[in-house]
Amino acid sequence: MVNCELCGRSAQLIEAVVEGTMLSLCQGCSKFGNVVSIPKSPIRTKVTQKVVEIDKYLDEIVPDYADKVKTARESLKLDQQTLALKINEKLSTLQRIESGKLTPTITTARKLEKELRIRIVDKYNLPQSNKLNLQNEKLTIGDIIKLEKDD
Ligand SMILES: [Zn+2]
Repeated sequence: MVNCELCGRSAQLIEAVVEGTMLSLCQGCSKFGNVVSIPKSPIRTKVTQKVVEIDKYLDEIVPDYADKVKTARESLKLDQQTLALKINEKLSTLQRIESGKLTPTITTARKLEKELRIRIVDKYNLPQSNKLNLQNEKLTIGDIIKLEKDD
């Protein structure tokens, strides 16, 4: 086993191109890039596609994200410019997020969660049939457990 070049997780890796760079990524991270090759087995190809599809439905930004970001930032005594730098976003982007005019992407929301120690990405309530599918895919269950354990 080798480690994913994005999240460092030890997992079955997939070659993917992220911002022009070829990286070896886990299934969870591969959705950030264009997957250029997938491990040989056709079964695994199918699983990968399924996982990515389910992931789209798993992550949702909570409706009160703007208040949560602003309140957490103020309680940490960070100004908007400092926080924008920390999450590698433009000040104007952060301002729009805090005023509720812009829903952050999952990637940006994850960075905000990490910096502010808040929870603004919520899980979509999966239909029962999808839950059953998930139970057949160990890596996906691991990902979900990881999502639930807020750090
Ligand atoms: Zn990864």
